[in-house]
Parts: sequence; C-alpha cells; structure tokens
Amino acid sequence: MTSPDTPAGYAPLDAGRLIALLMGHEGTRMRLGESPERWTVREVGDGNLNLVFIVGGPSGSVCVKQALPYVRVAGPSWPLSLDRIYYEQAYYAAVGPHVRGLGPEILFYDPVLYCLVMENLTPHIILRNGLIGGLRYPGLGHAVGDFIARATFHTSDLAEPLERKMSRLALFAGNQSLLRITVDLVFTDPYRQSERNRHTTPQLDDIAAALRADAALKAAVGRWGEIFLTRAQALLHGDLHSGSIMVTQGDTRIIDPEFAFYGPIGFDLGAFLGNLLLAWCAQPGHATAEDERAAYRDWILGETVSFWETFQTSFLALWQRHGTGDAYPAALYASPDAAAALDRERAAYLRVVHADMIGFAACKMIRRILGFAHVADFERIVDRDTRGRCERRALELALEMLVSPERFESPAALGAQVSAGTAGSSQS
Ligand code: ADP
Ligand code: MG
Repeated sequence: MTSPDTPAGYAPLDAGRLIALLMGHEGTRMRLGESPERWTVREVGDGNLNLVFIVGGPSGSVCVKQALPYVRVAGPSWPLSLDRIYYEQAYYAAVGPHVRGLGPEILFYDPVLYCLVMENLTPHIILRNGLIGGLRYPGLGHAVGDFIARATFHTSDLAEPLERKMSRLALFAGNQSLLRITVDLVFTDPYRQSERNRHTTPQLDDIAAALRADAALKAAVGRWGEIFLTRAQALLHGDLHSGSIMVTQGDTRIIDPEFAFYGPIGFDLGAFLGNLLLAWCAQPGHATAEDERAAYRDWILGETVSFWETFQTSFLALWQRHGTGDAYPAALYASPDAAAALDRERAAYLRVVHADMIGFAACKMIRRILGFAHVADFERIVDRDTRGRCERRALELALEMLVSPERFESPAALGAQVSAGTAGSSQS
C-alpha cells in the first residue's frame, strides 16, 4: 500500500509491525505486561482519515493511531500528507501541560511509522454516540469549555512572549494539507456544486439549491472563511466536534487534534456548539414511544449554556492571573483607571470570540448536511423524510445564525430561541 512517495521505513501497521514497535518501548511494554505473544490487536478506527488500533496485554492496554498516506474513507485516490500525525502530537505536547488530564496520556510518537501511542481510553465512548443514544454526561459542557479556555489562553499572545508564540505559529503553519481540507470542505464546497457533496435527496433539494443561490449567505460564509485564515489568536484543536470527544459519566477527554493550527478561538468553540445543536436537531429522529427525548433536548441546550459560561469564566480568570504575554502587557495596566480600561477590553475581546463561535458553529452545521462528511446523528435516522426534516431544521437555524448573528447574543438567548422554535423553522 506504500507508494514511491512514502518515506523510507514507513508502512501501514499490521499486528506484527505493531507488536515489534511496542516491544521497543519499555514504558509501553511494562504497561501491556511482558510476554508479547499474549498481546491482542484490534483495529477500531471509525474516523475518516487514519488507522487506530487497541493493543491489549496481561496488565493493560494502549491505543495506537497511525496516519495513512491518503484519506481513509476515500482511499488512495485522495492522497494526504502523513505529517498530520506529527501535528497531532505537537498539539498534545503544547497544550498537555495546561489542560489537566482532559486529553489522553501520550506514551510516545514514532516519526518513521507516523504513529502516536497513547492511553487507551476505556470504558469511554465517542460522545456523538452517547448523544444519539440519549445519554447524559454531567459536566460535559463545563469540561469542554474549560479545555478550550486553557488550551487557547495558554497558547495566545495574552499568555506568551511573542517569540514563543511566533515559533509555534510557524510550526503549525506547516499543517497545510489539513487546512486545505477545512477551507474546501467547510467554507467552499457546501455552497457550490461539487462532486464531493451529497445531501438527503429529494427531501433537501430545494433548500440546498436555495442556499447555493443565496448571495447574502455566500458573503457571510466568505467573511467567516477569511476570519478563519487570518485571526491567529491561539493554537486550536481544529476539529473539535462530538466525534473528537470521548466520555464516561464522570470523565471527558478530547482526542484527534490533527487539524491543529493557529486560528480564531471561536472556531473550536463553534465546532462543539454546532455539533451540540446538530444533536439537538436530530433528536426527533431517535425518539421512541418510551423515550420521546423532549427533556433530553433541554439537557443539550443547558450544556451549550454551561459550555460558554465555563469557557468565559475560565478564560477571564486565566487572563487575570497569567496575563504575561505581549498583548495587553501587564505593565501598562497598573493604575485603577488603566485596570478598568483593561477589563472593558477583556469584555470586548470575549464578545468577538462569542460572535465567532456563533458564525463558525453555523458553518460547521451546514457542511455536515450539504457537504462531504456527514454525521451519524442524522445518518442513523433510517426514515428519510424524518431525517430530512431534522436536517432542514438544522440548516434553517444555521442560516439564521449566519445572516442574523445579532439574534444570538448569548447561548442562553440561542437556547431560548431554538426551543421556542423562533430560530429556524418551527418544524421539529
Ligand atoms: P480519525 O482522525 O481517523 O478521525 P480518531 O482520532 O478520531 O481518528 O480515532 C478514531 C476512533 O478510534 C475514535 O472514534 C475512537 O473510537 C478510537 N480512539 C481514538 N483514540 C482513542 C483512545 N485514545 N482510546 C480509545 N479509543 C480511541
Ligand atoms: Mg476523528
């Protein structure tokens, strides 16, 4: 499966190569337990891009993620740089010290096989599956809000000297093959005819055509695309949807940061918010006579509120305590007057982040319905008319978030409008 372009020494992992790799690393060998002949290997990758293995031994288990030289779901006809796994490990290395165990423990990175060996998160499941199943995770919004606050604040100019931030910005500027995917699949293809697009047809034919002919929408999406490319506020995860979060009742972990780059903080916030709203819109498709999901939908909206509130509180507290960067240098704000002016600046900064979150959430919602990569929240709704109705509701909500963002000035206002049916269609 390797091509003349793949680097020397690289090959997709199979059980033999995997065991040889893990045996060579003492910490991992100890974690699994000696006697590698008793180790078992399972490929569990359900993502779009990479191979993921769980290796179990007598005393423990590990997870191994390896980049393929192409997009897994598309096959070798869509080549993709192996370096993405390098950026994934670089992201974990940059934010790991700041996020208090909210990511997996990283054991080692192998630059020849382009793979990352990490803690096997168990019994965690992918959040998206939990949301489809109607399961509640106490503290979910809080954990993700806190994660984003810590990961972004500590890599921003508010916390860091410009030399360190610029070096990291330069490093992540190399992650261009994945940036290309985001720019094409999020900000471009859904708004034009593209052979990579698909949608529930014929149910959504009219709205898909209307969105692709909507000049105001194209202007708004262009604006968000430009902000995505130019507002290098902090190191971002870059793909923080509900498939990049693994959960149990008491624990939340963020995985899969291979799209990491310097961008607007609202992009990570919007990915999570947008995917919670997709989950909300999809609930009627998963309801049954015994489980009608109305209260569950309210729980989801409640999590959007605690998510933003935690992000805001945590980010502000970090700024007040550790504002040691070159942006708003602390030395300028010692007097009470200047301190009050700085407080007003902080509030204005967060208003911009909030507006970005709403805009990017909407972009993320639209691309999951009209673009290339869809979400199981809708895909698992078997009845196409029901699926189409749920998706239409999400599209109408997203459209309104993009063209009338002033109606969504807080997540509480968003939640109130969504549940009252005043945002988007009243059809649910
Ligand atoms: P991709 O980049 O291809 O989307 P992911 O990093 O999302 O790959 O991983 C794909 C799947 O592998 C996840 O959905 C999850 O089921 C599983 N997985 C990934 N990382 C871990 C981990 N550390 N522990 C347990 N399972 C994991
Ligand atoms: Mg993934």
